[in-house]
Amino acid sequence: MATMITNDCINCGACEPECPNNAISQGETIFVIDPMLCTECVGFHDYEACAAVCPVDCCVTDPHNIETEDALVARARALHPETQIGDNFESRFRKGQGKAAGAIAQKQAPAQAASAGANEVMDRVASATGAAPQMSGYAEPQVNFLSLPEIDSWEIPIRCFKCHQTHVESVRNFMIGNVIFCPHCNKSMVVRDNLNYHIRALLKDSYERWGKEQNAFSSQRETELAQFMEHRAKEAQAFETHQRRELQRIGQQLETLGETYDAPGKPIKKGSRFGWG
Ligand code: SF4
Ligand code: SF4
Repeated sequence: MATMITNDCINCGACEPECPNNAISQGETIFVIDPMLCTECVGFHDYEACAAVCPVDCCVTDPHNIETEDALVARARALHPETQIGDNFESRFRKGQGKAAGAIAQKQAPAQAASAGANEVMDRVASATGAAPQMSGYAEPQVNFLSLPEIDSWEIPIRCFKCHQTHVESVRNFMIGNVIFCPHCNKSMVVRDNLNYHIRALLKDSYERWGKEQNAFSSQRETELAQFMEHRAKEAQAFETHQRRELQRIGQQLETLGETYDAPGKPIKKGSRFGWG
């Protein structure tokens, strides 16, 4: 089955650069896949790269275009004659991680592939250099959110209008009609509704804003972290692909060198230097 894009596409463009066959392009209204170029990523990945990054899961198998793994790998080889796609090629058919494995497996595939690939590369480097492989970890810094005190536990400094000295009263004493006595001159003061209103409004607004800000901050950090990790997984995956191709290229270059090298003593075909042999 070739992969197709349904009308749920939101034109985000995330899939286009992921395709190893350049099969995805912007259509008239949504992104489209050229079935003659799509190999369901056979030859390159053991999952469909476009489906793995699509945020709305609209890269799906086309039930009207069923193709075998043999046909798909043959297409991959034809599309990439410069790349050696041997018998041990990547394929979602082989590892059973195709669409039947479900959306979760698909979404995890890039990260898993990136991580597995990174480990594989690290192991190769380690075996070549004798160095111990090391993977750096990422620890999300903990945010120590401050807690607000109980709303009734606040104390408010108040200045006596007679002796002008200041003393502290619990917020609970600022009820309408309550009488507060100055501890210095014993002058009384009655709490009126406007003072009570201002204190209540200030505390209510402050406590509500505190909670909203904390929730917004937490959710923004979670979103940013998820985006960051997704970006890192894609980066790792892309770099692994680059290194795989480099490995293949080095191997091909060495092969060519070995085949074409004119070793001293190598017999020279008679007449070949004059063009008729
Ligand atoms: S399944 Fe793979 S080859 Fe096909 S369009 Fe998606 S990314 Fe490209
Ligand atoms: S990733 Fe999905 S939604 Fe975005 S352009 Fe591709 S098919 Fe459309």
